[in-house]
Amino acid sequence: MREHIFSHRSIAALEGVHPDLVRVITLGLQHSPIDFMITEGVRSRERQIQLYEQGFSLVHSGGTHEIQPDGYGHAVDVMAVGDLNGDRTCDHRDTLLTWDKANYGAIAFAVKRAAIELKVHIRWGGDFKRIFDGPHFEQCGEVMEDDLSYGWQSG
Ligand SMILES: [Zn+2]
Repeated sequence: MREHIFSHRSIAALEGVHPDLVRVITLGLQHSPIDFMITEGVRSRERQIQLYEQGFSLVHSGGTHEIQPDGYGHAVDVMAVGDLNGDRTCDHRDTLLTWDKANYGAIAFAVKRAAIELKVHIRWGGDFKRIFDGPHFEQCGEVMEDDLSYGWQSG
């Protein structure tokens, strides 16, 4: 199996993201059957408000993409890329599947596995109650052993 590695663009997008979350998403990429890139990490307050006003975000300001008191952003958004329909070519037919929910379930399963291995507590946007935000992963709180054994089913 071909190993997935982050492009320069993805690495640049991870700048300012908490190192623990970077480690999780990097190991998650290696576990993932689906290649993905990082589309956004740290988000400015101005951009967060803009996304809210355009209806792309439910959070007006202070969300996990913004720099937190510890000096880091605590969220990343990913996008499925590569041979998504499994026909051994990367072409326009794959881009039709870019936002297919099933891809994000598979990516989330791999990222959650990485989080458990690295003992970093994360939350997947696909598990949010109010909306399905499959591309979104965020780091949260202290890691408790209970967290690692509870609620980690694939979405
Ligand atoms: Zn996000």
